[in-house]
Amino acid sequence: MPNVLLTNEQGVQEVFAVPPSAHSRFPSVWSGGTGSASGQYSVPDPPKRARPTKIGTFMRSAYLVGQLGTCDRARVGVSLVHVDHIVAQGYNGAISGEAHCDDVGHDIQNNHCVRAAHAEANAIAFAAKQGIQLLGCTAYITIYPCWTCTKLLFAAGIRRIVYGERYAVDERVEDLASRGRISIEKWLEPR
Ligand SMILES: [Zn+2]
Ligand SMILES: [Zn+2]
Repeated sequence: MPNVLLTNEQGVQEVFAVPPSAHSRFPSVWSGGTGSASGQYSVPDPPKRARPTKIGTFMRSAYLVGQLGTCDRARVGVSLVHVDHIVAQGYNGAISGEAHCDDVGHDIQNNHCVRAAHAEANAIAFAAKQGIQLLGCTAYITIYPCWTCTKLLFAAGIRRIVYGERYAVDERVEDLASRGRISIEKWLEPR
């Protein structure tokens, strides 16, 4: 039973024994800390925070911006990242100021909606408009890219692609990757 030294009204120091029940009000402080075994009371170690991964953060940013898409055949988003910073984003939709598929329906040709510009094309066009260099960026895309967008990304200097869903895989994209011209990988973390 630990002792506590107190000074009474007459200035005389007295030793009091503290019953164990007095500690139970502060169990995490008085009985849990790293110093309790040696008699030195301390606060317990704080719980460790699980920091999100960078790849997960950039992928989730692509999913988030993809929610702005205006063609419900595919709500696709992309984040273009340079040295851990998002430098451009894009989502699938009609060009600025034109009617949205969600409002007036799709414009289908050869089983594709041609009203909407693809997310990757919109991100690259935004970068061109703003004078943002994309050389060496990584593209985080919510779905596997089509061949046209892969060519645009490649032409802009992007050689690494991370995608979320394996959708409409194009053998020309696979071939480019198999010959080491680009790196393409699936994001494997839980959503
Ligand atoms: Zn559409
Ligand atoms: Zn595309």
